[in-house]
Amino acid sequence: MSASTFAIENVRVWSDGLSLAPEAFQSVVLQNGKIAWLGRTNTLPNEYSDAKCLDAKGKLLTPAFVDCHTHLVFGGNRADEFAARLRGTSYAQIAASGGGIMSTVRATRALSLDQLIDQSLPRARNLLAEGVGTIEIKSGYGLDFENERKMLLAARAIGRALNVSVQTTFLALHALPPEAKSGDARRLWIDSVINDCLPRLVDEGLVDAVDAFCESIAFDLAEVERLFEAASRLSIRCKLHAEQLSNSHGSALAARYQALSVDHLEYLDEAGVRAIAQSGTVATLLPAAFYCLRETKLPPIEWLRSAGVPMAVASDCNPGTAPQSSLRLAMHQACTLFGLTIEETLAAVTRHAAAALGLHDRGQIAVGQRADFALWDVQSAAEIVYWLGHLPVQHLRL
Ligand SMILES: [Zn+2]
Repeated sequence: MSASTFAIENVRVWSDGLSLAPEAFQSVVLQNGKIAWLGRTNTLPNEYSDAKCLDAKGKLLTPAFVDCHTHLVFGGNRADEFAARLRGTSYAQIAASGGGIMSTVRATRALSLDQLIDQSLPRARNLLAEGVGTIEIKSGYGLDFENERKMLLAARAIGRALNVSVQTTFLALHALPPEAKSGDARRLWIDSVINDCLPRLVDEGLVDAVDAFCESIAFDLAEVERLFEAASRLSIRCKLHAEQLSNSHGSALAARYQALSVDHLEYLDEAGVRAIAQSGTVATLLPAAFYCLRETKLPPIEWLRSAGVPMAVASDCNPGTAPQSSLRLAMHQACTLFGLTIEETLAAVTRHAAAALGLHDRGQIAVGQRADFALWDVQSAAEIVYWLGHLPVQHLRL
């Protein structure tokens, strides 16, 4: 028996698709950072009887959650804009006076790498405190090579500082940089993203995936396709902000490039659902932005369900449309606002969220999976979603 063998005893193991309140007490044996055995505590094989033990006293074990869509690295905040909007100032007026995303770009550029890490760490800590073990973090507020690089370096540093798994996404086409005013500057920016920033950041090992904002107010299909082609040539997987404010048919394009996920999807149509069902692309739902923008158009949950599309849920933590560093609140919002069931919501932050990042070694409690868990002091799994605010949880990682 290896010295690194460890057993969690008397635990109720949450299992995808099974009862929400499993009755039998089980043991989970962990070896070399992975699950080596799983079964009833009273049937633990002799070879593991000397393992160091944690008595879970009947608590509920889930995989550590995966927050598969965040923009949690950024400088400053936009609370003043929130206040102005409540006083009646329109989004367009705020943007015209230099607010909106450009205010976050200025604030992010103004910080050193260390300052950016310091400002972003509390948001990541907040996710960890509610059972998250893997966080995706996007760039996209730098909008030049050095500042996009700084954001991705900050994301990697947060992973090391908190001993948490961080996946970095180069949000290459998020917005036009403030310097790019003329029509020509737009093309030059996209050229420089594709021909210069992307290959250099990939070379440095800073890019786990690329992403873009496909929308009438952002980038069009042809521009996104140029990025996807370039990423595919570098063997980098794609993600897409799609169909949030209108139907731009970004999901069908993403499906053609076997994208890992398409995210938001309020305006996704039936053809788009069929396309992502065929490509195995995950549909990532972001109810926090829907809530903050007081949207009324719901994503087509029933179509996604009947087509068997895997659905993920993420916090979307960002300073503009979702200043929310809580995945559990997003889970509650997915149920309350979008009508997901508890079972769908738990799968959406475990197995399907892992798939949205191309990770297949986590998100389930099964032999061979990573030993990365959340241990909940609850009677049933529904409580994890039901409670708003604090819920005690222990993050177990071996
Ligand atoms: Zn986003």
